[in-house]
Amino acid sequence: EAAARAAAVNADSGAPTIFDKIIAKEIPSSIVYEDEKVLAFRDIDPQAPVHVLVIPKFRDGLTQLGKAEARHGEILGQLLYAAKIVAEKEGILDGFRVVINNGPEACQSVYHLHLHVLGGRQMKWPPG
Ligand code: ADP
Repeated sequence: EAAARAAAVNADSGAPTIFDKIIAKEIPSSIVYEDEKVLAFRDIDPQAPVHVLVIPKFRDGLTQLGKAEARHGEILGQLLYAAKIVAEKEGILDGFRVVINNGPEACQSVYHLHLHVLGGRQMKWPPG
């Protein structure tokens, strides 16, 4: 029941998130890559030696991947390509993982679409 409550609290409300403040540079982040549409910065609670989040600067309804529509195709491609640029910059092109947590059951906590780029250690499968 506690888990169900936490999931409800964390569910997608469409409200602004902390990532808006990161994009606006109102709170600091360690930026790895930035262009007109995409921002990539280090996760504050890294789960691997390299752990970078790749996000769209304009959320445009993409609180989570499950809300994607056809019009988001271009930005979704740009995010995935930015993940590759991040992996290259971080020197982990030989082995890295890209993760999107979608919704409470996947433990999504920030409702602004983000790709986790993880690497620098041996990954396990299946993920938990
Ligand atoms: P989870 O919290 O379960 O990993 P998400 O997939 O929604 O779920 O990931 C949100 C990520 O955002 C987390 O890895 C968290 O550490 C990171 N994060 C939260 N606040 C900040 C911040 N201010 N700067 C950088 N990363 C952050």
